[in-house]
Amino acid sequence: MLFSRFFAPTSKDVPSDAKIVSHRLMLRSGMISQAASGIYCWLPLATRVLDKLSKIICEEQDRIGANRVYFTTIQPADLWIESGRYDVYGKEMLRIKDRKEGDFLYSPTNEEQATDVFRKYVKSYKGLPTILYQIHWKFRDEIRPKFGVMRGREFLMKDGYSFDIDFCMAKKTYENVFKSYVATFRRMGLTPVPVQADSGAIGGNMSHEFQILADTGESTLYYDRKLLTASDNELMTTYAVTDEKYDPVNSSIPEKDLLMSRGIEVGHIFHFGTKYSKAMNAFVLDEKGNKLFPEMGSYGIGVSRLVAAIIESSHDDRGIIWPETVAPFDITILNLHRRDSHCCEVADEIYRAVSLRASSGREALYDDRDISVGEKMADADLIGIPWQIIVGSKKMERGVVELKNRKSGEIIEMSPAEVTGRFMS
Ligand code: ATP
Ligand code: MG
Repeated sequence: MLFSRFFAPTSKDVPSDAKIVSHRLMLRSGMISQAASGIYCWLPLATRVLDKLSKIICEEQDRIGANRVYFTTIQPADLWIESGRYDVYGKEMLRIKDRKEGDFLYSPTNEEQATDVFRKYVKSYKGLPTILYQIHWKFRDEIRPKFGVMRGREFLMKDGYSFDIDFCMAKKTYENVFKSYVATFRRMGLTPVPVQADSGAIGGNMSHEFQILADTGESTLYYDRKLLTASDNELMTTYAVTDEKYDPVNSSIPEKDLLMSRGIEVGHIFHFGTKYSKAMNAFVLDEKGNKLFPEMGSYGIGVSRLVAAIIESSHDDRGIIWPETVAPFDITILNLHRRDSHCCEVADEIYRAVSLRASSGREALYDDRDISVGEKMADADLIGIPWQIIVGSKKMERGVVELKNRKSGEIIEMSPAEVTGRFMS
């Protein structure tokens, strides 16, 4: 992609109303544009990151046999009246009337709809287990939207719903999802801290939140220091709770091992048994022809919140530092001297080689804009693409370009052929 064609309205100004670093950096790097309180347009850089996150999520969901679907953003109110949640959900739910005065709502979550789809098609125990999931926009009319996309009113969520034959199988599904969430967040360059949680409005008894440690997080966590070094298998049983569940009197952890941190909740998983299957009469027939109400769970990831959480955990004074797996581009090529024909030739060739030739498969943003050297370098650091290839006339006199790693700041001089070779393997 040529930067001269790319829509990334970067800015040097620090927005005064943005209180946390991720919000400031998302605005300054031209990732989001506010439409209304808690409602944002996602511009190209941010859209590319959402796509990267979604791809990782889908690959990990595939591994556990979950099926991707699109439920609807607009749902008929009837489903929620049937489950008994229409009246209890409160003002967070955006209620809508259609032209025939029918009652609808914009999905804050999709348990009812998943249960409805399931009951229409699955009639026998042989159809279990089933997991359906989607990555789709949600609307919750949050009382206090804040911190940009961290707590928005419209936000992108991965939400999954599982149906199992009995508690034992549901527990197995829950554990599989738990492990797949750990893998998912790790692939995004994050260290997830799973905490035992209250299951809130959705109801039930087995529930974990996945938190990312950050001073700006809204949750307060108490956990055993072992958690920081726990293996994947130990994670589920190591002591970690949110402040709502923390009981200093009955805590089983000696004080010296107890740590407290702030955290950002990026995922939440629940087992809630037969709550919805019974309320919505979603049953299958067992081997003997008896009615069996599936044990259900639901599993959320805040995809749009993750973009902010990743920035909170990976940035410096100059800007964002994207982990390689989720970066909007792999490489940015800076042609510092657009009027120097030798620089142009070399930069063009590097761009062609690393991004266009089929063998590479790397995504490159080529800064061909007619702006100052300082602005180019500042934008590259702000946008935070993991690798910068810098082509300038001084270095070209010696036949070299610079390869800079955004994270470490390390700069290595190389010939143009070496640098392309580095990204062709
Ligand atoms: P919170 O306690 O942050 O309000 P929740 O318990 O209401 O979250 P869930 O219903 O479990 O959240 O939704 C799944 C995930 O969606 C959450 O773990 C979070 O990452 C994300 N999420 C929830 N509400 C918002 C929001 N208003 N803006 C952005 N992401 C959100
Ligand atoms: Mg909430």
